Amino acid sequence: MTMNYPKRSILTLMALTMAITCSSQQKNIFPKGDLAPEGNFTGMAWVTGLVENDTVYHTIVANVTFEAGARTNWHSHPSGQLMLVTDGVGFHQIKGQPRETIRKGDVAKCPPDTMHWHGASKDSSMTHVVVLPNTERGIVNWMDAVSSEEYLQND
Ligand code: MN
Repeated sequence: MTMNYPKRSILTLMALTMAITCSSQQKNIFPKGDLAPEGNFTGMAWVTGLVENDTVYHTIVANVTFEAGARTNWHSHPSGQLMLVTDGVGFHQIKGQPRETIRKGDVAKCPPDTMHWHGASKDSSMTHVVVLPNTERGIVNWMDAVSSEEYLQND
């Protein structure tokens, strides 16, 4: 018994290590990508293009990850945007509406030509897959940064 116990402990430790390794590998479905250019974001964001714009689909799909506290500027999309949250906790706000909390598994929508912002929550990163349809109408119109007051509303 005294000889078996350490062996079991080692096996348990190995199983635990494997579980942690597997879960961290599953965390990001798509590559994190490159740092988003400064200017239209507060904090750090990473972008990976998944579907390039073309004349067949007229759609852009990208994976975007925000570090905790990071967010886009206010902006609009001529044909709206779909946001599929794959990890973490974040915020989405449409101008004139309350800020909504979005979590892994949530799907958020922004209608065409509607001002909004999206990003991570204060304490957690957030990763989402964004879909921009009908790109022949345009992709994005950037506006002002989201202030701390706007970002932290309702907290
Ligand atoms: Mn957007």
